[in-house]
Amino acid sequence: MYLKSLELSGFKSFAKKAGLKFTTPITGIVGPNGSGKSNTAEAFRFVLGEQSIKSLRGKRGEDMIWNGGGDGPSGTGRANRASVKLTFDNTGKLFPTLDFDEITLERVVNRDNSNEYLLNGSQVRLKDIVELLAAAHIGSTGHQIISQGEADRILAASMSERRAMIEDALGLKIYQWKKLESLRKLEKTEENMKQVESLRREIAPHLKFLKKQVEKVEKAEELRRELILQYKEYFAREESYLKITKSDLVRKLEDPKREMETLDLELNAAKKSLVDSNISNEKSAKVISLEEKLREIRSVKDTIMRELGRIEGEISANKRVIEKEEERQKKEEFQTVYLKDVEEVIVRIEKLESIADVKSLFSEVVKTLKSFVAGHRITTDSTLIGEAKKDIEQLLSKKNGLESNSVKNANEEIQVLKECQELKEEAEKGKDANRQAERDIFRIIGRQNELRGTISSLNIQFEEVRRREEMFKHELGEAGVIAGREAVSYADFQFGSAHPENGSRSIQEELLKKIERNKIRLEDAGGSGGSEVMREFKETEERDAFLAREILDLEKAKEELRRLIVELDGRIDYEFKSGILKINAEFQKYFTLMFGGGRAELVVVKEVKRKKRDDIDDLNGLLGADDSTMSNPNDSGEADDSNGPEGLEVNISLPRKKVKGLMMLSGGERALTSIALLFAVSQVNPPPFIILDETDAALDEANSKKYGDMIENLSKHSQLILITHNRETMSRAGVLYGVTMGSDGASKLLSLAFDEAVAVAK
Ligand code: ATP
Repeated sequence: MYLKSLELSGFKSFAKKAGLKFTTPITGIVGPNGSGKSNTAEAFRFVLGEQSIKSLRGKRGEDMIWNGGGDGPSGTGRANRASVKLTFDNTGKLFPTLDFDEITLERVVNRDNSNEYLLNGSQVRLKDIVELLAAAHIGSTGHQIISQGEADRILAASMSERRAMIEDALGLKIYQWKKLESLRKLEKTEENMKQVESLRREIAPHLKFLKKQVEKVEKAEELRRELILQYKEYFAREESYLKITKSDLVRKLEDPKREMETLDLELNAAKKSLVDSNISNEKSAKVISLEEKLREIRSVKDTIMRELGRIEGEISANKRVIEKEEERQKKEEFQTVYLKDVEEVIVRIEKLESIADVKSLFSEVVKTLKSFVAGHRITTDSTLIGEAKKDIEQLLSKKNGLESNSVKNANEEIQVLKECQELKEEAEKGKDANRQAERDIFRIIGRQNELRGTISSLNIQFEEVRRREEMFKHELGEAGVIAGREAVSYADFQFGSAHPENGSRSIQEELLKKIERNKIRLEDAGGSGGSEVMREFKETEERDAFLAREILDLEKAKEELRRLIVELDGRIDYEFKSGILKINAEFQKYFTLMFGGGRAELVVVKEVKRKKRDDIDDLNGLLGADDSTMSNPNDSGEADDSNGPEGLEVNISLPRKKVKGLMMLSGGERALTSIALLFAVSQVNPPPFIILDETDAALDEANSKKYGDMIENLSKHSQLILITHNRETMSRAGVLYGVTMGSDGASKLLSLAFDEAVAVAK
């Protein structure tokens, strides 16, 4: 026994909490019309997840909630929520996945029409409930719950509906679930594949473009590598060339520069000596002036000599006067005078006659005579000698003075002469130097001009080297930009046989030409900035490969799903057909039991071809899938296999009657046939419980008895809950519950004894 209890609270007419305990294989529920019996059967449907409110006799979920009833103080206000709890015994592992001894399912509906599902008190999704029940062979569509007036539902249903019901009853729902899941997954997979393929298609042109770009980049890279090698060689050679050429020029410049410096010094010296020789001209002038001075000195010397001669002559004259006087003095007294002299005196006196004055005349005559006598008497007295001596003295002192002057003069002459001589020599020397200096200057300037020519030509070469150095620097910068850093790290370059010292510029020029050519080609190929493109290409290629792998994976998954679907189809088909065979055996048995003969069977028939989409929709509908939890793929699907789905037809023939076909049956016959089929199905694959709401309503007493027997038979495998007014049926129940409705319109449940039940049922 799997069912333990049902608890209703605020559900439909059950305003207050009410419960049923299922302690026996058959539980009967009895009560007057409208007391709320069917509400209990609906409570089962409700808690098992029924989604069709219509089949619960309502329009909205809210209609499931106790709406209040009664007037005045006995009245009960409406409830805010309806709840139904169904408790199972799980010790027999009815729910194999749940590790609890007791499983309580609860469904709550609120006034806002929202639903809650709880499994042992924890909130779960409807999907979880549906799956759980499917695994326990309890369909949410409730093939095992036969509502009032629905006993012949299985007969009234379309062939495909019937098939679904039977499949459900046979426990194939779980496979159909799996099939549906697989179909959905397949659809999703196909959709994903399409998406991935479209993504791949989208990428393809870009990838192609990138590939071309990459080829370009690779070509550019190849060119760049070539360029790097050329640059390296060029730079290594150029640097070496420049270094050698420069040092060569420096060396070549050394001598001329040094010579130039020396010549500059020499020139300065020569110039200085020229200036110096001009100074010697001044010396010549000085010599002239000295000579002039010498002449002056000499003329002074002559004068002095002459004067000295004169003085000496005067001195000797005076000496002679003294001597003569002294002699004359010795002879004077005896001196004779010449007449002529006397005559002369006479003459001179005669000349005096013009003097009128006698006195003056006399004095003049005396004076003349005296002078005559004085003239003849040398020393008439010693005065003459004295004067002479005095003169001599004066002359001697004069002579002394002159003589010292003469010495001085002579010294001066010697001095001047010497000076003059020296100057003359120097001047002469200066003149020689001047001539030499002029010659030197002439020579130096000539040589310097020559050297200037050499230096200038070397400097021009030097300038050329410098220009090349500048160019070299510029080329280095350019190479770095065009070909990257590697191009300028040429230190490791190995010169071959053509070392720059041996080689001519032609190698360099040839290299430069090649470099120029490659530079242009590299520029044409898009430069060297390809890392971005390479990265993007790699990424896109990886993405493409990823997508390709993804497609493969999806294809594999698709294949697996297809295989699974085929497998499931096979399984369902097999189980279904073998199930039908078993059902038919039971059906025939029950039918014969009911009608005392005749024939009844289910026949599998092919329906018109349908689309897979419809197939899924059917499955969705029949499995009671919740759209909020299971999204419908919106693909219209494709034609299914040519077999098409199969439906079920019910073929019966009543004993002793020529009636064939369900349409011709009476209400009772229909009910009996339905019951026979229902019981046959339940016999083949017994559900944990079966709820039958007045399925026995149309049976007469004899058939009620047979019905009662069948029920008892059925209750060996499934727990039965029977809503009934039938006494016979009641008698088969182990426990009976009565449903009553008070003046407030609320249903109440109470356990009854058989007799009470019979009374209540009426
Ligand atoms: P019968 O024997 O005639 O089939 P029954 O015992 O099966 O009758 P139900 O159909 O189960 O009776 O009960 C119907 C009663 O439940 C009605 O009286 C109806 O008014 C009441 N009912 C249904 N829904 C609600 C609701 N939401 N609130 C209050 N009462 C409700």
